[in-house]
Amino acid sequence: MRFPRWAAAGVALTLGAALTACGSAVKTVDQALTPGSNAGALVGVTMPTKSSERWIHDGDNIKGALEKLGYKVDLQYAENDIPTQANQIENQITKGAKALIVASIDGTALTTQLQDAADRHIPVISYDRLIRNTSNVDYYATFDNFKVGVEQANSLLTGLKLKKADGSDDASVTGPFNIELFAGSPDDNNATFFFNGAMSVLKPYLDKGTLVVKSGQTDFATCAILRWDPATAQKRMEDLLTKTYNATTKVAGVLSPYDGLSIGILSALKSNGYGTAGQPYPVVTGQDAEVASVKSIIAGEQYSTVFKDTRQLAKTAVDMAQALLTGGKPQVNNTKDYDNGKKVVPSYLLQPVVVTKDNYQAALVDSGYYTAGQLK
Ligand code: BGC
Repeated sequence: MRFPRWAAAGVALTLGAALTACGSAVKTVDQALTPGSNAGALVGVTMPTKSSERWIHDGDNIKGALEKLGYKVDLQYAENDIPTQANQIENQITKGAKALIVASIDGTALTTQLQDAADRHIPVISYDRLIRNTSNVDYYATFDNFKVGVEQANSLLTGLKLKKADGSDDASVTGPFNIELFAGSPDDNNATFFFNGAMSVLKPYLDKGTLVVKSGQTDFATCAILRWDPATAQKRMEDLLTKTYNATTKVAGVLSPYDGLSIGILSALKSNGYGTAGQPYPVVTGQDAEVASVKSIIAGEQYSTVFKDTRQLAKTAVDMAQALLTGGKPQVNNTKDYDNGKKVVPSYLLQPVVVTKDNYQAALVDSGYYTAGQLK
C-alpha cells in the first residue's frame, strides 16, 4: 500500500523538528498537511463554468463553508475552457494553496497540474466529476451518478405512465412509445455513468418494444453533447424531428441528462409544433433543478429533473478538505466504483432526488434551496 502523501509530509516535519531540536539546520521543505499547521491556509477551488447555475451554488457553498472554518479561498470559474482551468490550478499552487477542490471540465486534462500538486504534497479532492488518468487525486465527493441515470429513466417511464407512482409497472399501458436519448459531455466521466444508469432501466423496455428509439441513435457517442451545450442539444433535437418525425409519427419521451439540455430540447420541440393542447410536449427529463427548468416543470413543460443538493455536496467536500488539512482521514462510503484509470478513488456518494410538479414544493422550497418567489 502506498504511504499517503500527507502522512509522508507529516513524517518529514517530525523528522525535521527532531533534527532542528538537535541543533541541526535542517528544515522541512514542505509543512503542508501537517496537523495544526494549516490554520487559515489557502484552499484552491476550481469550477467549470458560470453558464450553468448549479456550479455557482456549488462554488458559493464551498467558499462560504471553508471561510467559516477560517480558511482563505481562491474560487475560480473557467467558462468551460480547458487551458484556463489548468492555468487557474497552476496559479493556486503557485499562490501556496494547501488543498485543491476541483470540478473538472475535461477529466483527463489536468495531469501535469496535479503532478505539480503532488510534488508539493497538496491533496486534491475531485468535486462532482471524477478526475481521470492520474494517481494524484486523493478523494472524490459526488452524488451516486449511476443512480442519477436510473432515476432519470424511471421518471421517463413514470411520465409515460408505464410505471405507477409506487415504481411498479402498469400492465395496462403497453405503448409502443417513441423516445429519443441524449447524453452528456463525453469528456465528463459522469456522463457515461448517467447514460449507463438510464440504459440499465430502459433496456428491457427497448428489448420488448414497449419503447422505440425511432431514430435508431442509441449509442453513447451519438447521443453525447459536447460540453453539455444547450444549443448543440437544441440542434440535435431539431435534426431528429426533421429526419425521423412528421405529422403522424410523434416523439413521446426524451431522456435528457441535464436541465440546460432539456431547455434546448423543449425549444426545438416548440418550434416544431409541440406544446399545444392538441400536441403536448413529450416527457422530458433533466438534472440539477435549475430555476428555469423548475419553472418549466411547474408550467407543465419539462416533466422532471434530478435534484442534487449542492449544499450537501459542498459540505462533503469541505469536510474532506478539513480532515486532510488537520491531519485526519476523510469519511468515504464507496471504495469500488470510481476507478479513474490509475486508481480507485475513495469516494463519498450522496443521494439524488427526482423532482416533478408533485414534489418540487417539498424538495426545493420547504428545504430552503429556493424561495417560492424565485420559482414564480
Ligand atoms: C454534473 C451534473 C451537471 C452536468 C452539466 C455533470 O458533471 O454532475 O450535475 O448537470 O455536469 O453541468
